[in-house]
Amino acid sequence: MTDSTLSQRSGNGIVIHGMPINQRIDWLFQHARRHSDEFQSSESWLARSRYLAEHPNSITTFKCMDGRVNIPVVTNTPPGIILPFRNLGGRFHLGWPHLGEVIAAHVLTVAGQGRRSLALITYHYSKGDPRRGCAGFNYDTDAARTHTFEIQRQMEAVFSTGHSTVYPLVCGFETDEDALVLHGSGGEVLDLSTLSSTNHDTLPALLARLYPDMPDQMRQEMLPLVRGNISHIAEIKQSNRELNVEHREWMICIGRGFDWLHMPNQALIIGPYSPRLADPIRKPPASSRPTCESDVSPMTDFCCSP
Ligand SMILES: [Zn+2]
Repeated sequence: MTDSTLSQRSGNGIVIHGMPINQRIDWLFQHARRHSDEFQSSESWLARSRYLAEHPNSITTFKCMDGRVNIPVVTNTPPGIILPFRNLGGRFHLGWPHLGEVIAAHVLTVAGQGRRSLALITYHYSKGDPRRGCAGFNYDTDAARTHTFEIQRQMEAVFSTGHSTVYPLVCGFETDEDALVLHGSGGEVLDLSTLSSTNHDTLPALLARLYPDMPDQMRQEMLPLVRGNISHIAEIKQSNRELNVEHREWMICIGRGFDWLHMPNQALIIGPYSPRLADPIRKPPASSRPTCESDVSPMTDFCCSP
């Protein structure tokens, strides 16, 4: 899964964005079919069932559409467990009617089943080069991080700061090593790339310090995510993968359900959440590349390559 997530090449090794458009479309359908077959396999279904039996609470993520931000893969969590909300730049506002409805329906359904909801609100950046950060925020990590704290505040305004049922937490994602960076409720920060992959005994105490107001059961459910990410980081550090990502997206995806499409540089994914979809969906001028200075639309921002 990791290879297909990161590769920008088709099965025969050709760089996808260099192929004729008909071949790219064929590749896209084959990729979707592979993902679907894998997701429906008995092995995958059993893995999901077992995970949910052991970890019944709900986990959602709010994240940028950037293909590198693949929380299930980087936490070694079976596909289908973590419910993603993806949008250009990871921009969300709970006042958007459709987004508010979807989240409220999910939280109420989960609560009615006697389960809690953990919401990971993410921003992403690269520690090696700011230009590998989030194009949706014009590579301004501080702005991206500030936005996630605003989403957290909105979640708390809607679902309470008591955190006994819904716990929204801010989480950075460093894309060079696929490392989660946890922001604690008191302002502390825990970069998982700094932790040893061999000593997991201290993790419960670390999480208790970061999130003293989090229900114990929910902290227990964070442990496999944290352990999985630490193991994944160790694998990434051993690998020699390409880090430079140029924005060469050639398709626009609108709506939900694109969790199978996590390959960098291929697609601009626009969630159905903003009430002003005309802005991000509109086609940039064909004759010239748009500039970020003249327009604040997320689509335009993403069209600005390094
Ligand atoms: Zn981004």
